[in-house]
Amino acid sequence: MHSPTISDVLRARRLQSAHLSPTPLLSYPALDATVGAGIRVLVKHENLQPTGALKVRGGVALLASMTPDERARGVLSYSTGNHAQSLAHAAALFGVPCTLVMPEHPNPLKAEAVRRLGAELVEHGADFDEARRHAEQLAPRRGMRLVSAANEPALIAGVATAFLELFELEPDLDAVLVPVGGGSGAAAACLVAAAVSPRCRVIAVQSSRSPAAHDSWRSGRCVERPNSTTAEGLATGSGFELTQRLLREHLADFRLVDDDAIRQAQWLLMRDARTVAEAAAAAPLAALLAARDGLAGQRVAIMCTGGNAGEAELRACLSAAPVGG
Ligand SMILES: *Cc1c(COP(=O)(O)O)cnc(C)c1O
Repeated sequence: MHSPTISDVLRARRLQSAHLSPTPLLSYPALDATVGAGIRVLVKHENLQPTGALKVRGGVALLASMTPDERARGVLSYSTGNHAQSLAHAAALFGVPCTLVMPEHPNPLKAEAVRRLGAELVEHGADFDEARRHAEQLAPRRGMRLVSAANEPALIAGVATAFLELFELEPDLDAVLVPVGGGSGAAAACLVAAAVSPRCRVIAVQSSRSPAAHDSWRSGRCVERPNSTTAEGLATGSGFELTQRLLREHLADFRLVDDDAIRQAQWLLMRDARTVAEAAAAAPLAALLAARDGLAGQRVAIMCTGGNAGEAELRACLSAAPVGG
């Protein structure tokens, strides 16, 4: 499988341009004050995408690049939600049949959005990896193209356009923190940073309850790990070969944060940035708070990768927040 290049990213941007708008990059005095250490925090608002998540860039770029024959066969994939919405959104745009396997009891907000976009939803398996194995069997039986959640050069190139926007606005950024599930977002950050802002440190973040990508990067080979985080976007149980290859080339650091710290960061984004982030999208702020001493005085971007937090998740987040805090 070939690694995507910066020219693939430029091509993806051209393919997306009729369908997606750039997202804002904003700073908030209250958030800077909370983080402290003289750090300037910039929030890249991918939660404002039409599906509420960064991943839609990948789906639109992938389907826009498919041949009419491939489009007629349709696409089939697996997801805890935002990748599913991304493909369903793109499939609706280009009139492509689309089937998605989600683990049983998915986030109802994400499942409903997928159905509303006209895709077929199959609920199967207890977690991401069981859904993946089911999708891998189903796709050849149905003659549809199997789209991996991470081992897909076109998805990485598509997601990477977010980082082109970031570095165009902030060429002197010191660091960017990116949450990781399969690793396509962080791999995309590495690809673009290496090409246009090589001094910027890309820092990946995962939940300590689902550390497969982290442990794969540290050990230099794809490993499987327990997967019990409640942050859907981070909930994968194995490293992916293509994204790990890109991370090895440019990633500066990989941090783990626990789910309580993520919930706390989710609340701080509501309070200080008036932003509803889903748990995965708050992980970068949790990691920044833990690592702030090492980043003192720097300009640091956090990728707010999605805002699809369901009611139960938001209630849990708010009831864990200190009253008046
Ligand atoms: C999928 C997802 C991630 C992780 O992205 P990968 O490309 O799978 O590493 C992070 N945040 C949100 C909101 C997501 O949906």
